[in-house]
Amino acid sequence: MKLWITRPMTLAVEARAAAEFDVEIRPTTTPLSEDEMVRALQEYDVVVPTLGDLFSADVFAKVPEPRCKLLANFGVGYNHIDVEAARALGIAVTNTPGAVTDATADIAMTLLLSTARRAGEGERLVRADNWQGWHPTQMLGHHVTGKRVGIVGMGRIGQAIARRCHFGFGMHVAYQSRSAKQLDFEAEYIPDLLALAASVDFLVLAVPGGAETRHLINAAVLEAMNSSAILVNIARGEVVDETALISALQAGQIAGAGLDVYEFEPAVPKALREMQNVTLLPHLGTATEEVRTGMGHMALDNVTAFVAGRDLPNPV
Ligand code: NAP
Repeated sequence: MKLWITRPMTLAVEARAAAEFDVEIRPTTTPLSEDEMVRALQEYDVVVPTLGDLFSADVFAKVPEPRCKLLANFGVGYNHIDVEAARALGIAVTNTPGAVTDATADIAMTLLLSTARRAGEGERLVRADNWQGWHPTQMLGHHVTGKRVGIVGMGRIGQAIARRCHFGFGMHVAYQSRSAKQLDFEAEYIPDLLALAASVDFLVLAVPGGAETRHLINAAVLEAMNSSAILVNIARGEVVDETALISALQAGQIAGAGLDVYEFEPAVPKALREMQNVTLLPHLGTATEEVRTGMGHMALDNVTAFVAGRDLPNPV
């Protein structure tokens, strides 16, 4: 059984992979080229791909009889893999749900707080040695405690964000999802996205990417938001129409945005980079040693089950 891991991993994950499998680890950190993806399907039994490896229907069509039988994705989001096309060729796909939940919710709170309280702007001011000193009306931001937050996508991460907002910041939680949830804290289900957007101070996105949610946040949703409201996106860049977001920010339709993901990442539009009321992170959602190691183990647990002929723990 030949395994290919498409990026360097944490030391713990690389050590386990080397101990348990006949593994090759690609030493570069960039996404796979199309040629590399074709070779992956032809030459390995199992591949551990990740974000940016665009296993599209076109790529699968180039390898009608693949050696590969499992894509054990490193990450919970798998919108970069055409799962139907994989399945049609007998290739299973797994992901790493749960391992990422708390870390990603923490980054959502980082963005929410940072944007509301102008932390990035303040930090830039201090670093530039331009701070003139404290005064009663210096850099007034948006209060967070007790405000209304709207979560779009009340799944694992959405609920972890909602818990932080409710229990940590005394916020009123409202949410939109395909279905209402049974929760052990108060949260208002507002199935209409425009109505949710119009009723909150913070709108936080936690839906999966993919065709179904592409541009879910469009000009109409941004227009529905309050001019004092802030948008936070830790989901996938494509969920937001980035051009519409830039227009809404430039027109003052919304007060700010906190973004971990971008429509065409790693490209981040100059217009966003120039705005002080926007917090920009380089897709840091799961970026801690413990979490990346946990994700790696989860991906390898799926490989182990596959090799042993057992049910896959995390099929998608
Ligand atoms: P999850 O548990 O599957 O939750 C997704 C939620 O989105 C579910 O509540 C689902 O609703 C809802 N949803 C799906 N399609 C929708 C639609 N069209 N309209 C409204 N709601 C919809 O997934 P998760 O573990 O929370 O992860 C969510 C996403 O976060 C991942 O897919 C990934 O793309 C992203 N993510 C980002 C980072 C980062 O580094 N920034 C890290 C991890 C994950 P129902 O429950 O009603 O079906």
